[in-house]
Amino acid sequence: MAASSSSTSIQNPNLLDLLAEADIKTLLMVLVTFEHDENLLEECQPYITGAWDYMQNIPSDLRERIIARVAYLLADINAGTRTRTASPSSGLLMKMMSTFVGQPIPPEYIPLTTQQFSFPSVRDMQGNVDGNSSGASKSDFKVAIIGAGMSGICAAIKLQEAGIPFVIFEKNDAVGGTWYENIYPGAGVDTPNHIYSFSFEPNHDWSEYFAKRDEIFKYFDAVSEKYGLYQSIRFGANVKEAVYNDALATWKVTAERPDGTREVVEANAVLFGVGLLNRPSVPNVPGLDKFLGPVLHTAQWDNSVKWQGKRVGMIGTGASGMQVGPTMAPEVEHLTIFQRSPHWVTSNPNYHRKVTAGKKWALKNIPYYADWYRFQLFWATADSLHASLHVDPTWPHLDRSLNESNEKMRQALIASVESQIGDDPELLAKVIPTYPPYGKRMLRDNHWYHTLKRENVSLVTERISEIKADAVITSDGQRHEIDVLVLATGFSVGQVLGPIDVHGTQGIHLRSIWGEDDPRAYLGITVPNFPNLFIMAGPNTSPAHGGSAIFNAECQVNYIVQALQILAKGKYSAIDVRQEVHDGYNDRVDAQNAKMVWAHQGVNSWYKNKSGRVFASIPWRMVDYWSWTKKFEPEDYNWRPATIALSDVTMKS
Ligand SMILES: Cc1cc2nc3c(=O)[nH]c(=O)nc-3n(C[C@H](O)[C@H](O)[C@H](O)COP(=O)(O)OP(=O)(O)OC[C@H]3O[C@@H](n4cnc5c(N)ncnc54)[C@H](O)[C@@H]3O)c2cc1C
Repeated sequence: MAASSSSTSIQNPNLLDLLAEADIKTLLMVLVTFEHDENLLEECQPYITGAWDYMQNIPSDLRERIIARVAYLLADINAGTRTRTASPSSGLLMKMMSTFVGQPIPPEYIPLTTQQFSFPSVRDMQGNVDGNSSGASKSDFKVAIIGAGMSGICAAIKLQEAGIPFVIFEKNDAVGGTWYENIYPGAGVDTPNHIYSFSFEPNHDWSEYFAKRDEIFKYFDAVSEKYGLYQSIRFGANVKEAVYNDALATWKVTAERPDGTREVVEANAVLFGVGLLNRPSVPNVPGLDKFLGPVLHTAQWDNSVKWQGKRVGMIGTGASGMQVGPTMAPEVEHLTIFQRSPHWVTSNPNYHRKVTAGKKWALKNIPYYADWYRFQLFWATADSLHASLHVDPTWPHLDRSLNESNEKMRQALIASVESQIGDDPELLAKVIPTYPPYGKRMLRDNHWYHTLKRENVSLVTERISEIKADAVITSDGQRHEIDVLVLATGFSVGQVLGPIDVHGTQGIHLRSIWGEDDPRAYLGITVPNFPNLFIMAGPNTSPAHGGSAIFNAECQVNYIVQALQILAKGKYSAIDVRQEVHDGYNDRVDAQNAKMVWAHQGVNSWYKNKSGRVFASIPWRMVDYWSWTKKFEPEDYNWRPATIALSDVTMKS
C-alpha cells in the first residue's frame, strides 16, 4: 500500500479533487496516525456522532485544513522525507478509535487493531502464523482440505505460507462456494466488501460498497490464482467419507467423482471448509411437485428459465428474497410474495452506491486509509451492536425488545418503515416483526418497501396450504395464479458437515454425537475423539450480530495453522481436544446464548435447531473470538507422541 509516486505531489491539481472524494473522517485518522496531533483530534470530535457519521457537518475551513495537511503529508512521503510511523501509543490509539466511531472503544480492541493495521512492525495476519518460523517439518506431513470456498481458500493460503503441504477436494468445478453457486438475480453481500475480503488480500477496486456475486466470485478466483492454489485442488471430487485410523493416526478421505470413480487420500489432518449455507432448503408444501411451471431455488438458479414478463410467485422473505424479489419485480408481469414472518430491515446509504474514483485512489494510495476504513466498518457493522443484543431481565417489554437500546433501535426501524409505507396501514401491519431487532440476521434494504408498494407486487401473509399445477393456494382459500415459482427459502443447516460420514477414534461416527442438528465443537473448531480434525464455519461461529464471516474464518485458520505447525514437526502424531475443555466451552456458549437475542422465544430462525438450542451463532463479540483463537493453547489438548511414520498413499479405484 505504498504511496504512488505519480499522484501524490501537492502540485498535482487532481490530488485535491481526489482527496475531496475521500472520507474526511478517515483522512483525519491518517493524519493523526502520522502526526499524533491530539489537538486536531479534539477539534474534530464534536463533528463525529457515530460510526456511520462521516463528518457531514464539519465546517468547511476545518475540512480544507485536513485535506491540505494530508496533501502535504503525501507530498513528503512521495519525496521520501516521511515514512510510515510505528503504532501510536495505546492511549492515543484508544482515543483515536473512540473519536473515529463516536463511541468509547474498550481497551481489548488495541491488540486487535495494532495487529490488523499495516504498522511497520506488524506483517502477518494475526502475529502467530508465520511462514518462516514453522521449523523443520516431517517431509511426508499432509493436510486434506475439504472445500474450496472462502474458508478453504483462506486455509490453503495460510498453510502454504506456513510450509505445510495440502490437497483440496472440491465437489464443484470452480472455487468460490457460495459465490460460485448463487447466481440468482441480485445476489450479493450484505456486509460491506471492504471487510468482506481477506485482510491479507484487500481489494481496493470494489466497484460497489456491497458488490454483486460476479465481482465477488472473480475476487476469490483471482486470489486462488495468485496463490497458485489451482494445482492443489481436485475439482469434481465430492468427499463422501473421512475415517480416522487409530493405529496410524491418519485420516483416510474418500471422494467420489461424477463418473463414479473414487479418489482416496491419506492425510495427517483433515480440515473441513464445506460451508454451512449450501444445501438448499425446499419447503414442505403439499403439491410442490405438481406445479407445472419452472421452480427456481435461489441457490440453484437456472439462467435459461425466462421469468421476465411472467407471473412469478416467491416464497420467502429472508436474505435471498430481499435481494431477488426487488431485482425481479420491475421486469415481471406480477410478483406475489409469500411471507411466513417479516424481517427487520436496515438501510445503508451506500448499499446501492458505486465506489468513487477518489475513494478507490485513497484506499490504494494513502497509508493507513484502508486500515482505518476497515476498522470503521468492522465496528459499525458488528461489535458496536453487540451490547444492545443482551436481555435485560428487568426490561418490561421483553416480548418485543431486550433492553432500552434495543427498544430504541426497534422504534427507529419502525419509523423508517413508516416513512416509506405509513400511508398503507394494512401493509405496514404485515411487515413489522413482533420479535426484537437482530433476532434473525438483519437484512439490508434493497428497496424492499418500495417494491412492496409497486402496482405489480402483492404481499401475501396467509399460510400456503397447497400448490397446484398453476397456482399457490393459501389458507384463506385464495388462489394465486403463477407461471414461475421462486423458492427463496434458504438452506438446511443443522448438519454442519453435511452428508459426509466422519468417523473418529474407534470408528465413532460424528453424527452419533451430534445427532441430526446438535453440533458442538471447541471454539467451533475441534471435537473430542476426532483427532487432527479441524472445522471452519463450524458450530456457533456465525457472526449473527453482523460483521464479516471472513474475519471469523481468518481467526479459525490462524488457530488451526498453529496446531498443524506443531503436528508437522513430527514429535506428536495426533491431538484431540480434552473433553472437559470442549464441554466447558459449550456450556459457556449455551449460557451466553441464552442471554442473547437469538434465543428469544419469539424468534424462529436457522440459528436454532429443532429443540430450540442456538447452534449456529456465536454469542460473543468478534474481538473475543479473535483473542481466543489468537494463540493455540497446547494444554487444551491430549497429545499423542509419534511412533509410526505415515505412509503417504494415494489410490484410485
Ligand atoms: C447468498 C449468500 C450471501 C452471503 N452474504 C454474506 C455476507 O454478506 N456477509 C457474510 O459475512 N457472510 C455472508 N454469507 C455467508 C458466508 O460468508 C458465505 O457462505 C461464504 O461463502 C462461506 O464460505 P465457506 O467456504 O465457509 O463455505 P462455502 O462458500 O459454502 O464453500 C464451501 C465449499 O465446500 C465445497 N464442498 C461442500 N461439501 C463438499 C464435499 N462433500 N466434498 C467436496 N467439496 C465440498 C462446496 O462445493 C463449496 O465450494 C453469505 C452466504 C450466502 C449463501
